[in-house]
Amino acid sequence: MTMTGGRRCYKCETIKPLDDFHACRRDPLGRQKLCKLCVKAYAHDNRDRLAAWAREAYRRDPDYRREVNRKWADKQKEAMSCR
Ligand SMILES: [Zn+2]
Repeated sequence: MTMTGGRRCYKCETIKPLDDFHACRRDPLGRQKLCKLCVKAYAHDNRDRLAAWAREAYRRDPDYRREVNRKWADKQKEAMSCR
């Protein structure tokens, strides 16, 4: 028997086919632990929080913010591509 492709999203706790998960090289199954819908929701939630934080940081120190923003973008890219 071949392995059936499916995994339980650790956020919405729904078992979904692997096609509903983004690829992740570091995972044994080769897929993220969050389904695509949850990844989308997560990104959306974080965008709101970050937008508020970034506005505040920028007001305090534009140069610092630019630097941090770049680092954050790299980190996010990694987090979203592989959780
Ligand atoms: Zn999910």
